[in-house]
Amino acid sequence: MSIIAITGTPGVGKTTIGELFSGSDFTILSVKDLAKQYGCEGDFDEATQSMDIDIHRLAEQFESDLLDEAIIDGHLSHFLEVDAIVILRCNPSMLQERLAKRGYSEQKIKANVEWEMISGTWSEMIEFELEQPILELDTTNFDPADIYEQIIKWVNEGYSQDSIPAKIDWLAK
Ligand code: ADP
Ligand code: MG
Repeated sequence: MSIIAITGTPGVGKTTIGELFSGSDFTILSVKDLAKQYGCEGDFDEATQSMDIDIHRLAEQFESDLLDEAIIDGHLSHFLEVDAIVILRCNPSMLQERLAKRGYSEQKIKANVEWEMISGTWSEMIEFELEQPILELDTTNFDPADIYEQIIKWVNEGYSQDSIPAKIDWLAK
């Protein structure tokens, strides 16, 4: 059984990579779908133009034993009971371009670019003392197919934590 969260700032490529699992044994799920399924959606948030999700309630209710092999796409997926976590990263200036193409408001672009700049998802994972194996991949200049291959290799090697490079720090570059 392996359930893998694919997390990271909006725009890093989670859904793009997740969709590549469609030909594999992994079921593709999203935090949004699960929130709907478990009745953990809140109100529509005008500021972010999306449904609020009660991620902590979802984390309590989510029954991972019901699943065999699955990947869970979402920027909050690392809060769920998963076996391993893939965190995707993207250079902030490229992220800005991707989010602008998506038609996000200036405010929403800025908030997300800053979140990526300060490695916000890492802060959450560290704060929650997550103990699962973590694979961090930079999507800035890599083909989705290459990234998919790297994830598959990591899974097949039993989530090897050997030779994992230092965390990406955009502020240090
Ligand atoms: P997320 O699900 O993390 O919000 P998406 O998968 O929707 O991100 O990707 C955001 C945008 O970036 C899309 O326009 C997508 O085509 C593009 N994109 C995603 N991954 C890559 C990549 N590896 N290289 C170039 N562009 C990418
Ligand atoms: Mg997405």
